[in-house]
Amino acid sequence: MALKNDCFALPAGVKWTPVSEALADLRGRLTPVTGVETVPLVNAQGRILAADITSPVSLPPADNSAVDGYALAHASLHPEGEQTMTLLDGRAAAGSPFAARVPMGHAVRILTGGVMPQDTDTVVMDEDVDIDDHAIRFGSGLKAGANRRLAGEDVAAGDTLLTAGVRLGPAQLAHAAAVGLTVMPIHKPLRVAVLSTGDELAQPGEALEAGQIYDANRPMLLALARAQGVEVLDAGQIPDRPDAIVAALRDAAIAADAVVVSGGASGGDEDHVSRELAKMGAMALWRVAMKPGRPLALGQIGGVPIFGLPGNPVAAFVCFLIFARPALLRLAGAEWPETVSYPLTARFHAKKKPGRTEYLRGRADGQGGVDKYRSDGSGLIGGLTWSNGLVALDHERDAVEPGETVTFMPYSAMGIL
Ligand code: AMP
Ligand code: MG
Repeated sequence: MALKNDCFALPAGVKWTPVSEALADLRGRLTPVTGVETVPLVNAQGRILAADITSPVSLPPADNSAVDGYALAHASLHPEGEQTMTLLDGRAAAGSPFAARVPMGHAVRILTGGVMPQDTDTVVMDEDVDIDDHAIRFGSGLKAGANRRLAGEDVAAGDTLLTAGVRLGPAQLAHAAAVGLTVMPIHKPLRVAVLSTGDELAQPGEALEAGQIYDANRPMLLALARAQGVEVLDAGQIPDRPDAIVAALRDAAIAADAVVVSGGASGGDEDHVSRELAKMGAMALWRVAMKPGRPLALGQIGGVPIFGLPGNPVAAFVCFLIFARPALLRLAGAEWPETVSYPLTARFHAKKKPGRTEYLRGRADGQGGVDKYRSDGSGLIGGLTWSNGLVALDHERDAVEPGETVTFMPYSAMGIL
């Protein structure tokens, strides 16, 4: 299902949109675009569920014991004092139930996972019991239903087990396997093409000529995208020539479901990406009030969204995580991800302009504090390797003093190292 032609159109004007507004806006315009396939459960790890799953059975299917001990009827206990119960022959173990009833005043051996025998509702655990040949003794105070797991307490037959849009991790696969499912309906992988623009770019392995730099963004963006579970396509490097850019973007939009391109987005002399996208129609420069990140160029070609990111590696990295990541996940069929963040104590000073959100490269120290990289320059890749997350300084904030609370967004919560 392609996006509408005008899906990224913004009202005219020069207003700088707050990050939260821009994200809400983007969220409202995107829907899943990938098809659905059914795969064996064991192959579904990391994939995005395409339909709600209801449970065909209750889990657990029957009342059972949470411990090793003795099953009995709570109603047969004395209100106080030491309890003595006659022990029946036989036992209930996981996979082999006790076939007979358990009369009042009697108990039967039960192991963890064993189905509660008929007429029992409570288990006294091994550690609390003295045993001789044919009787068990234990103290008072055992609660009715103790150490018993109830049928259906994890999920009842017919309940929704997993909802469309969740990423299938180990826990979700365990839940699906536990109710006997063998296959899962999942979204086909989103194909994301990544390309770089810039006449100055050389490829690793080539000798640098005067004025050249190596292309750092393409490996970075390929890795960022791959880490979100999408299928990536390396669409190469394009020179700063309108015809070359148009041809490369067109090809990428045919080969992929979404395109991520870095450089040339901001409207300068050699910034052909935004200009050519604008000529093709339905391109919007999103003037987002954030740093780093100049205008984000969002366009589409034949319903395929194009994310035009800044050329500076740090800005491309941040813009990818803040905008492209949730957008790609949504296109891939996932729920829009709410970024996990938490408050930490700043161990640094920072000045900031109110009226925009700033993302600093931060390093959480594991003791409740966070430091920032020595320089804010958005070309310095060293700040990315040094950091383990972003410090987000919100829109209205004007400065940070050591000891103040700041918001930290760990990279690990955004799927990357
Ligand atoms: P641009 O957005 O194209 O004006 O680029 C902004 C800055 O980022 C310039 O200094 C570019 O040389 C640099 N840059 C652009 N693309 C890349 C890339 N793929 N790898 C490393 N630096 C880049
Ligand atoms: Mg450029």
